[in-house]
Amino acid sequence: MNILVIALGGNAILKRGERGSYEEQYYNITETVSKLADIIELGYRIVITHGNGPQVGATMIRYDAAKTLVPPFPLHVAGAETQGFIGYMIQQALVNEFIKRKIDISVATVVTQVIVDRNDPAFNNPTKPIGPFYRKEELQEISRLHPDWVIIDDAGRGYRRVVPSPDPKRIVEIDVIKRLVKDDSIVIACGGGGIPVIEKEGQLIGVDAVIDKDLASERLATQLGASKMMILTDVEGVYLDYNTPHQRLLRETNLDEIKKYHAEGHFKTGSMGPKVKAIIRFLANGGSEGIIGHLEKAKENLVEGEGTHIFP
Ligand code: ADP
Ligand code: MG
Repeated sequence: MNILVIALGGNAILKRGERGSYEEQYYNITETVSKLADIIELGYRIVITHGNGPQVGATMIRYDAAKTLVPPFPLHVAGAETQGFIGYMIQQALVNEFIKRKIDISVATVVTQVIVDRNDPAFNNPTKPIGPFYRKEELQEISRLHPDWVIIDDAGRGYRRVVPSPDPKRIVEIDVIKRLVKDDSIVIACGGGGIPVIEKEGQLIGVDAVIDKDLASERLATQLGASKMMILTDVEGVYLDYNTPHQRLLRETNLDEIKKYHAEGHFKTGSMGPKVKAIIRFLANGGSEGIIGHLEKAKENLVEGEGTHIFP
């Protein structure tokens, strides 16, 4: 079977400058799923992953604003909430698109836990800012409510909580995802990079951290034995010397070459860096093609050679 893992970037759900209302997000998703349906009509069995940065941030703001009325939940639960509601929107929009196109395929969201190593050095070095900005006067109250939080001064814009971003190891729900895919269903999984959990004495425990969605998507693609992985974002593809007068788009490259460019520092940490790293891992783990391209050209990336194509 031709399994393709598609990782959706932030722009698939929320566009720059939008406030993040339900209507805005649902509308964007209806546009996104029409691109996905084009690919499904080509005969691919797709597994969809997505980011959740702005959404999990908004959920944390809701918890914070309502904390005197209802107890705020931990970050890992906020991750589960966003997987649920984003999955719901994609599911509904995709089913509606299938009805219009007379496609008979089931769609399901799997709330996904991803195992991270509790000794991951990231736990001693939280780097990822999440949730609301706080004022200096609020810090004492915040530390009283959440003694375990690490708060940093975010470039003079205010104070913000930072959490670790550990490396994803293994998808807990992989077997059920495999069964759904084998059964020809479309699965939405690993939303927001998955809910980070550690193993302790044989049990799973949610931890307050954020897993990069591109790196988690690679684990999913590899563990599913997908042949291709496509990361859809808001640029045409991978550029060398990005944002300089000499920038040039990489159209086709291979594992050795992209590793070299990666080592030379062409890809920014936190944006293109993890995408390239994810594709490098995917190909090293047996994948046959990695694609990074624009969401608007989802189908053209596959059939017309748009975007950046990386081979082993
Ligand atoms: P997503 O939500 O899709 O993960 P990101 O903002 O994390 O989006 O990553 C996409 C961004 O990566 C682009 O908008 C671009 O500004 C940035 N970027 C950094 N380095 C590069 C590069 N070498 N080539 C292309 N884009 C790059
Ligand atoms: Mg990103």
